[in-house]
Amino acid sequence: MAGGPSSERPAAGAPGLPAPRGAEHSGPVPVTTGRMAEPLGRAVGLPTAKALEAHLGLVTVGDLLRHYPRDYRRRGQLTDLSGLEVGEHATVLARVSSVRHRKMQRRPGYVVDVVVEDGAVRVPLTFFPRHGGALAHLLREMVVGRTGLFSGKVNLYRGSLQLVHPEHHMSGPRGGPEVGQDDDAAGGAGGAEDLAAEGAAMDAFLSGVLPIYPATQGVQSWTIAKAVGIVLDVLAEEDVPEPLPDMVLARHGFPGLLDALRAAHQPQHPGHEERALERLRYEEAFVLQAELARRRLRVGTQTAVPRRPRPDGLLAAFDERLPFALTDGQREVGEEVAADLARTAPMHRLLQGEVGSGKTVVALRAMLAVVDAGGQAALLAPTEVLAAQHHRSLTAMLGDLAEAGTLGGADVATRVALLTGSLGARARREALLQAASGEAGIVVGTHALLQEAVQFADLGLVVVDEQHRFGVEQRDALRAKASATPHLLVMTATPIPRTVAMTSFGDLETSVLRGLPAGRSPIASHAVNAGNAAWVARMWQRVREEVDAGRQAYVVCPTIGDEEGAGPGRGEGVPGADGPAEEPPGGSGREEDRVLVSTAAVDALLAEEPSLAGVRRGVLHGRMPPEEKDAVMRSFAAGDLDVLVATTVVEVGVDVPNATCMVVMDADRFGISQLHQLRGRVGRGGHAGTCFLLSPLPEHAPGVARLKSVAATTDGFALAELDLETRGEGDVLGARQSGVRSSLRLLRVVRDVDVIEEARSDAAQVLAVDPELRRHPALAGAVTELLRPQHESFLERG
Ligand code: ADP
Ligand code: MG
Repeated sequence: MAGGPSSERPAAGAPGLPAPRGAEHSGPVPVTTGRMAEPLGRAVGLPTAKALEAHLGLVTVGDLLRHYPRDYRRRGQLTDLSGLEVGEHATVLARVSSVRHRKMQRRPGYVVDVVVEDGAVRVPLTFFPRHGGALAHLLREMVVGRTGLFSGKVNLYRGSLQLVHPEHHMSGPRGGPEVGQDDDAAGGAGGAEDLAAEGAAMDAFLSGVLPIYPATQGVQSWTIAKAVGIVLDVLAEEDVPEPLPDMVLARHGFPGLLDALRAAHQPQHPGHEERALERLRYEEAFVLQAELARRRLRVGTQTAVPRRPRPDGLLAAFDERLPFALTDGQREVGEEVAADLARTAPMHRLLQGEVGSGKTVVALRAMLAVVDAGGQAALLAPTEVLAAQHHRSLTAMLGDLAEAGTLGGADVATRVALLTGSLGARARREALLQAASGEAGIVVGTHALLQEAVQFADLGLVVVDEQHRFGVEQRDALRAKASATPHLLVMTATPIPRTVAMTSFGDLETSVLRGLPAGRSPIASHAVNAGNAAWVARMWQRVREEVDAGRQAYVVCPTIGDEEGAGPGRGEGVPGADGPAEEPPGGSGREEDRVLVSTAAVDALLAEEPSLAGVRRGVLHGRMPPEEKDAVMRSFAAGDLDVLVATTVVEVGVDVPNATCMVVMDADRFGISQLHQLRGRVGRGGHAGTCFLLSPLPEHAPGVARLKSVAATTDGFALAELDLETRGEGDVLGARQSGVRSSLRLLRVVRDVDVIEEARSDAAQVLAVDPELRRHPALAGAVTELLRPQHESFLERG
């Protein structure tokens, strides 16, 4: 996963705050020069620097120092091995409890089975030394009773967890500290060997506190510790600009930045790091809140064109032919939105509503009001599938109201244009023309809408659907296409806890769409153990029953299954803010690697499943050509397919009311919010929905507990909080959301409410006196750093 720090694009919008017009380039001046901005190569040597950049995205001295330990181990305190999760890269401190070796049967080399323990749980490790020398070296290290650090990918093998060929770093008593794995064993340390030697890690170990860093296969925790040590040794106060104003430092009694960094990385005694981490955590909140306060001060100056619907216009005509009554919620929110649109201050509204609560109608009515007033509206969707669906359903809902300029068109009619990246040249030109001429009152699109070439005659409203897939920068780019600031409506089905709203949506007013349209049935969810053949058979039987009753089903898979070389799953578009975790490397041929279920494999499996004989299946995934995707989606929507085997392309917004059943394969690979979104695809008609969450994990695995909590509640708010707690907001806010990902390392927005609130009020005080941070250059620099945009290439691949 590439980190953003090497990105060189200029800073764009702030997290959660649209850039005020004309203010885009007048942000705080970067002051990240000097030691902290120095490339790591100079400080720690090129091979280590390369590994740190390639595997952790750390480029500068500052990046490295902000890569804080994830945990601290006291001497003799072993890692709780029951907490390991499949798929994660773990560094554990454990004791060797048995060692056995044998010769490989068909190839040269050996297999060494080592078991390590924390006193309660045992975890097997497997090594494959290639020759006698390597074997002897390994056996000298792996002595029963010895303690060491072991670092590697956690795999599932025959129902139990194991680390395959981990890197290791042993501590006394024999031979003293020694370097990790054998020279000639597979899977090198990526050029980091020069530092992997004894040193910082073991010094710290002996002094009593050992930092454990978030590591990866390519860079071990102890290598990071060593590099940090080298860097810290040469830094002086003046090399480390202090972003916190004196007043704030004094008020909280915090240590200065350099002291804090030293204590966080190299605590001298147990507990030494605590104050430091408190300060660093507060600092993250403060810098973010400083930027939010700065933006808030500026937003006050923007103006928008007020848009009021005509009494006998398009909106009135639409309301008249609406086939259902609006829910109370839709009516209330509709009024709030209408009032906003009529003001000269731009609307900044976040519309939260459970999946299926009917947000689209609310958005459409807002768009029609704007069209009535002579303006245009743009609807931004995160995927092509969703954009195409919106285009279809808006056109269908509008009927002859969307046929302006044709014989059948109503007087007040407009047109709805679709603009996505995969349009042919002609269709694209046509859509561009309709947008630029104003002929299309509504333009639906993916991020293709953000491109330079797209012009609007009079863009009055931007609607962003399923916000969590868009970076704030995208939102702003579209708004920049209007001559006055357009109104903004952001829709999300992912409930946003209050603290997240404070951090990431600082400027948005919030509307909550309560209640579902009448006739909705609750979804029953079940966690199913994939290893239990009887349950699995019963599950397919249930799918069959739905199909026999004339209903349809989704089977969702984490991967596509046609990869060549690419790891499974990596290739799928938009894996979601909380998409499937990193996959085991493909094609390694190791039986230990868990191969994730693919659409291709499931399609083949279902062909053989006796209870599903004769069922009409289709396959949908992000790498199909757009026309094919569209065709499959259409035939599923038309009921010509019974079962749709798909990747998460169906996650967001897909609306087929006749679908009542969903099976999620390898469900433990999906995040909580993502599962909640996924199952929102079923039970949208009048019929009860059922969702099966399949997982091969053993009963006690943390992943299964997560599935059970998803199965146990349909309360999206409760699940969103749980998601935040279990995953950390890096994934929830995400680079995708706000670019804050790399900056929020310590702050947890659910847990740290108090910190955020204090920082917010402190920041407001500082900004009130110095709104452009002219007197706080180090803080201005930290803000610039915070806004450094992250990779955005994830967009529009679904
Ligand atoms: P979401 O909030 O998840 O985006 P949609 O806007 O897609 O939900 O609405 C889900 C379905 O409910 C659509 O088929 C829509 O036509 C229907 N719907 C919306 N509002 C109402 C209503 N007031 N009464 C009945 N059906 C409704
Ligand atoms: Mg929707």
